Amino acid sequence: MKYPIYFAQVEEGDSTAQHGAAGRKATANHSPTGSNNPEGQGLFAAHKTIHVREVKGKFNNFRWLFVWLTQLLYFVTPWLMWNGRPAVWLDLQKRFFYIFGWTFSPTDVIYMTLVLIICALALFLFTTVAGRLWCGYTCPQTVYTEIFMWIERKVEGNRAARIRLEKAPMGVSKLVKKIIKHALWIAVSLAASFTLVAYFTGAEGTSNGVQLLREIANHETSFAQVFWIGLYGFIMYLFAGFMREQVCLYMCPYARFQSVMFDPDTLIVTYDEARGESRGPRKKGVDPKTVGKGDCIDCGVCVDVCPTGIDIRNGLQYECIGCGACIDACNEIMDKMGYERGLIRYDTENGVKNKYTKQQLIKRTLRPRVLVYSLILLALFVALFVGIGQRTKIRMVVERGDKRTLAVHTEDGLIDNVYKLQLSNTDEKLHTVILSVDGIEGIKIVGKPEVELDPASTDTKIIRVRVDPAVAKAAEKNEHDNHDAQKKDKEREKDGEQDDYKSYPIVIHLKSPETNENLEYKSIYYLPKD
Ligand code: SF4
Ligand code: SF4
Repeated sequence: MKYPIYFAQVEEGDSTAQHGAAGRKATANHSPTGSNNPEGQGLFAAHKTIHVREVKGKFNNFRWLFVWLTQLLYFVTPWLMWNGRPAVWLDLQKRFFYIFGWTFSPTDVIYMTLVLIICALALFLFTTVAGRLWCGYTCPQTVYTEIFMWIERKVEGNRAARIRLEKAPMGVSKLVKKIIKHALWIAVSLAASFTLVAYFTGAEGTSNGVQLLREIANHETSFAQVFWIGLYGFIMYLFAGFMREQVCLYMCPYARFQSVMFDPDTLIVTYDEARGESRGPRKKGVDPKTVGKGDCIDCGVCVDVCPTGIDIRNGLQYECIGCGACIDACNEIMDKMGYERGLIRYDTENGVKNKYTKQQLIKRTLRPRVLVYSLILLALFVALFVGIGQRTKIRMVVERGDKRTLAVHTEDGLIDNVYKLQLSNTDEKLHTVILSVDGIEGIKIVGKPEVELDPASTDTKIIRVRVDPAVAKAAEKNEHDNHDAQKKDKEREKDGEQDDYKSYPIVIHLKSPETNENLEYKSIYYLPKD
């Protein structure tokens, strides 16, 4: 299948011949290859600032709705508390993540992996159905660029005023405006980077935001905290303030592989060429047919509002982030001219070709690829929630030392083996767990078998497990049953290890009466041969 829309590059002279002044302006500035670079001819296109024109309309409102929703969520969460601790706390020091009522320990890495796979697959699904929705409405680059452009408009004025200001020589008024704009950009960047670091900062009984403020006030911040506040703030200031569309065009890999996910039934921002051409100016209210033209009046407003500076009338290009700003702009022009809206619209390649109705477009979203993605996504969601729901609250990992240091002779002629237990309590409550061991006649844990585990904590406990060597003889009678131990013995003999010890399989049990969980861990007990 051929998609001229993906990499619709305007050949030299093409835009001049077909697409009017606006088209020429846009394509000249942003060809990634530099082939349309007016200066020329170098390997890299010279960057020119895009002065985006303000636009009003349905899709602009949607975009701002997402700006508010995402930013409210992002900025408010670090000030929320849950069960006496930050509602969301990514505690890297203790390696515990607290997300409202859920606690994740390092052993939950499988769920993190599942979440990442779900995010990637959801992106594939949404892109297949509706193109670059993520880019146009919720990507942080789009969201912060929108906020930065709003600040720019408030301080420096509308598009025409900003162009005048850029051309004007530096004077007091220009300097003051620039200082105010950059100060506000830096303030937003620092607020966002403070918030990011707050998610990783926390303490019991206080929110992340308050804790980070307290640490800053008391000069208690670590180098890592200061570093990340500075680095993330700087990146945001650079990306949203200066680089803007260049991040999407040259740095973001998503733009490059989106074509793999598109098909002729994917919703994309489309210019209805059959209706719009031939384009050209005419007086307001003039019926295009009477002047032998299409509905496009070649005003160039759709290019002026485009954050990536492209002309959608050249076909869909990879630079298009699907934000819909050109749709709002063109609809406004169509209203003014008294023409039907939708010369630029969200539509599919098949929809434009076959003039599908809305119902037909919706029906065609249920195609095999979409159904397969949806089913896999559903299965992953089920696996994630079932997995999280069935997690044990208490976890145990046992480490044992080398046999020469592991088996210790006591004064009474008994043998102790030492084990290191990594215990995790992912519950929000304190739990007392009971340890026990079996596998050898008379084997027991030295000291108290109860261990208290603080809420949402990991603890390392060293235990001594004692055996009377007399029982070893009795155990040896059962040696023929100890296949694992025999196998290991043979392996060690093969490796030339000193073999003064005999190994016996044992099981360490952990019982949690409150959660009703019973864990067991298989290990080996070493006894000297004599
Ligand atoms: S805004 Fe509409 S009418 Fe104006 S140039 Fe763009 S497509 Fe043509
Ligand atoms: S062409 Fe239209 S939808 Fe695409 S990025 Fe530009 S304004 Fe947004």
